[in-house]
Amino acid sequence: MLNVEDAQKQILSGITPLAEETVPLREALGRILAAPIVSPIDLPPFDNSAMDGYAVAAQDLRNSTAATPAALRLIGRIAAGEVFQNRVLPGTCVRLFTGSPLPEGADAVIMQEDTRSDPADPAKILCLDTVKSWENIRLKGEDVKCGTALVAGGERLTASRVGLLAAIGVTGVSVGRKPVVGLMATGSELVEPGQKLGPGQIYESNRVGLSALVSQAGGQARILPLVNDTMESTCATLAQAFNECDVVVSTGGVSVGEFDLVKAAFEKLGGKLAFWKVAMKPGKPFVFGKWREKFLFGLPGNPVSAFVTFLILVRPALLRFQRATAVHLSSHPGLLADALANRGDRRHFVRVKVEHDGSVRLAGIQASHILSSLAGANGLVDIPPATEWPAGQSVSVLRWEQD
Ligand code: AMP
Ligand code: MG
Repeated sequence: MLNVEDAQKQILSGITPLAEETVPLREALGRILAAPIVSPIDLPPFDNSAMDGYAVAAQDLRNSTAATPAALRLIGRIAAGEVFQNRVLPGTCVRLFTGSPLPEGADAVIMQEDTRSDPADPAKILCLDTVKSWENIRLKGEDVKCGTALVAGGERLTASRVGLLAAIGVTGVSVGRKPVVGLMATGSELVEPGQKLGPGQIYESNRVGLSALVSQAGGQARILPLVNDTMESTCATLAQAFNECDVVVSTGGVSVGEFDLVKAAFEKLGGKLAFWKVAMKPGKPFVFGKWREKFLFGLPGNPVSAFVTFLILVRPALLRFQRATAVHLSSHPGLLADALANRGDRRHFVRVKVEHDGSVRLAGIQASHILSSLAGANGLVDIPPATEWPAGQSVSVLRWEQD
């Protein structure tokens, strides 16, 4: 049976990134940059004031104290967005606000709170303290130098990166196209949520759960009609899926029962199976194959198995389609609050809840049909076969939810 890393490598090695497209920066949250962004300007673009106060020559205030204030003549006022045409000559100052450009001749800003004006002579500003050269000044280019690469190609645009790009004047970015992911659920027992359950029926939940994961991974989910366990229905929906989508993710029907028809239907349509079964729990039966230039990920039907195999084996592929450099779940250190054991012969991705202090608890019953423990989890701990870890053991937690 294939191990997880070899399965991941085999999947990723077959993936050619999708075309680039340009999207407005406002719509670019979560997208993966296709090329690095180099700043065309300095940020800030000019020296400016960090305070409401007065532009001064620091030298003029070298002996200022509250008892012996330096008196400066006020020669002008610069609102944010204005520019000053004159110089600050020795013995003079200019009124400034946060963000006002620093006028020529000034090399510091004294904050308003350290000054007093003379009611009898409003143009006379008394400075009650000294300032150092460049104090309270935000220097041109100290945040970003013109020509610096800010976000590398293959990186994801977070909210803060989007803000940074707007600050250097970017309006649109080139990103990898979103893969269209067809979600197909097989099983004659499945009913659409919202309808009445008959005897022996259950609500179909994999497509909606997985479509949330597809969105989180930057893909565009397309929900396909429910498939009952006949060759005809399986073939028809698979064919529709390959026509409409870049990637097809099916659930159910990949085990060994006589109603497990996904592999046979896929091959009947001309698909080439690459592998079936990965040494992991949950999720041993897992089909990966290629139909022309498109891919089939055949996930097990049990909702937790489908979810976990998606995170470990499908999510990396969706990210790679978009040119992402980091494709695997991020790994975070934690300390086990409960003992953990894997007595089986496959590695077990155990559902855990990581608390804010880094302690890691079991999220509940670990059977692959137990959805409530998945909903209570925010991470997975990958425990090798035949292993027992005591409480207090440090572990790596694979995270897909931050809370
Ligand atoms: P299968 O892999 O088709 O044998 O399904 C394994 C188990 O998962 C069965 O108990 C199914 O009823 C259940 N199951 C399969 N597909 C879904 C689905 N889309 N939503 C909820 N449960 C499912
Ligand atoms: Mg089934």
